Amino acid sequence: MNLTFIGTGYVGLVSGVCFSEIGNQVTCVDSNQDKIKQLNRGHVPIYEPGLKELIQKNQSQGRLKFTSRLSEAVQEADIIFICVGTPPLASGEADLTYIKQAAQDIALEMNGYKIIVTKSTVPVGTNDLISSIMQQLSQHPFDVVSTPEFLREGTAVQDTLHPDRVIIGTEDERVAAKMAELHRPLSSNIMITDIRSAEMIKYASNAFLATKISFINEIANICEKVGADVTEVAAGMGQDRRIGSSFLQAGIGYGGSCFPKDTDALIQIAGNVDYEFKLLKSVVEVNKDQRFNVIAKLKHCLGDLKDKQIGIWGLAFKPNTDDVRETPAMEIMEELLQEGAIVKAYDPIAADNFRKSFRHEDLVIWSPDAKAAAAECDALCLLTDWAEFQDQDLKELQQLMKQPILIDGRNVYSREQVSQTDFQYYSIGRPDIG
Ligand code: NAD
Repeated sequence: MNLTFIGTGYVGLVSGVCFSEIGNQVTCVDSNQDKIKQLNRGHVPIYEPGLKELIQKNQSQGRLKFTSRLSEAVQEADIIFICVGTPPLASGEADLTYIKQAAQDIALEMNGYKIIVTKSTVPVGTNDLISSIMQQLSQHPFDVVSTPEFLREGTAVQDTLHPDRVIIGTEDERVAAKMAELHRPLSSNIMITDIRSAEMIKYASNAFLATKISFINEIANICEKVGADVTEVAAGMGQDRRIGSSFLQAGIGYGGSCFPKDTDALIQIAGNVDYEFKLLKSVVEVNKDQRFNVIAKLKHCLGDLKDKQIGIWGLAFKPNTDDVRETPAMEIMEELLQEGAIVKAYDPIAADNFRKSFRHEDLVIWSPDAKAAAAECDALCLLTDWAEFQDQDLKELQQLMKQPILIDGRNVYSREQVSQTDFQYYSIGRPDIG
């Protein structure tokens, strides 16, 4: 099929590339001309394992192209995917500016019947809004479908090629059949539902995952006080099939471009219909506090942080991505600087992105590698569980530091590993060592 993806960010680019990989003719459009220029020069603007190779392969085989010229892209397409951002407004509500613009842009360029698929995460009722915007601007027939995206950054290519499920929200049988045909090479688990339920499935899924994370983080905080080990607790809980073991890793909380914004948006969606989502409000609050456990642990072992040298390992909100949106590292480093600490930081991939969005960029010592970030430090804080950190030689590391203090915000190291060193080791929800 001829497909066009509007917005070539994490969702639009990965989806477009994967649909070309399964044999479709794909055009990816972005209003950011610089992004398109980069892509056409072979430079991939985001870090996502496996993506660059797939782009090269499908571009060279003539199934994938990048353009900022919307009219051609719309006119050649049978199906148009809207994959633009829906960032949070100050109120927490999703900002639909880019969605409305994309709907207008498509409507003005249409030359015949099109299926419009909303992949962006949008509040319930937004697909109806897209329909009404388009109806006002175009004489051509169209159908709007909600197909929310569930890919995870860091494993986005694999998630897109092998999704757990595909949700298709439409009330039209022929459109449902066409969308099912398009997705069948990726998954046999396709659920057809109505548009509003499809929109809600996305928010409810993210809210539930965020709830699991905040739940285990609160259990971890209690474990610390009663002398239990949260990894043991989570392992025991996870064996119950009703609970499951995923999303029960205690740590410094979730970040990224989806969970924080989608939980806030769902609270607002509920609020707009006079429903107070008390549980989700607590999930958000717990998550906001959880990251500061790192600071509390540092103060517990170092006292006043003024002039203490603190190493930071990991700036991305999770491993295998260069996305630093809402990353816990941002607030932790701001707080450390405010306390007068000297901060050294390193991330294998996300440092450049982090530096662009960190307002105290000039106050941080940016280290070229993990060892340099730890050298001469009074304490080291691991904030992102990149594999590179798990593989470090802790004995060698302790020699480099002024004081061997390790705050493991992601519970990366085992007791056995740390016990063989002189590290004072503090993790989340597990007994301290040293
Ligand atoms: P992003 O910010 O990385 O990319 C959005 C892109 O859209 C940008 O490149 C921007 O230039 C472009 N754009 C904006 N308006 C445009 C227009 N009118 N025409 C052409 N291009 C336009 O965003 P993202 O992370 O890919 O997320 C997109 C949507 O998907 C959001 O609603 C998000 O919540 C949802 N989502 C994201 C993820 C994720 O992991 N990032 C996962 C699932 C769902």
